[in-house]
Amino acid sequence: MLTIERIEALFASHGTEWYGGESISQTAHALQCAQLAEQAGEPDALVVAALLHDIGHLMLAESTTTDMRHQEAAADALAALFGEDVTEPVRLHVAAKRYLCAVDRSYFDTLSPASVQSLALQGGPYDAARAEAFAASAHADAAVRLRRYDDLAKVVDMATPPLAHYLAIAARCARAPL
Ligand code: FE
Repeated sequence: MLTIERIEALFASHGTEWYGGESISQTAHALQCAQLAEQAGEPDALVVAALLHDIGHLMLAESTTTDMRHQEAAADALAALFGEDVTEPVRLHVAAKRYLCAVDRSYFDTLSPASVQSLALQGGPYDAARAEAFAASAHADAAVRLRRYDDLAKVVDMATPPLAHYLAIAARCARAPL
């Protein structure tokens, strides 16, 4: 089960790993994504979702040939600690990519080669019916906003606040202990 301390330990033990096929670390990607959400004036819950959207990659042994469904593992593990305003944008951030590829032709062209490769493993762009169903689902808007921060959070050597800054926001968002 995840706690704030366990999240901190995951970043400490696995955060220096490369973020997919990109040229930055998992921790740098998470901090940039959180910073983009914070600078956009998002609610704390979405800043926390941005920080933790790929925590599943830190929890799972990775494969380049199988989709490990890191979004589901992360959302389920985070549910002990956070409400749906954190867990569901995390769960839906891959669906949001499949949705955006279906409804916005220019979006696909912005994806990095690594993201195009993972899109294929994740099932490719939605068809019209699935895109419509996604758009109508709860938390779809927040998931799409998170997706856009995610796609931008790949800048080499971008300055960000430290992890502790965002863990403090996460601690504020966490449920009271039962
Ligand atoms: Fe990501």
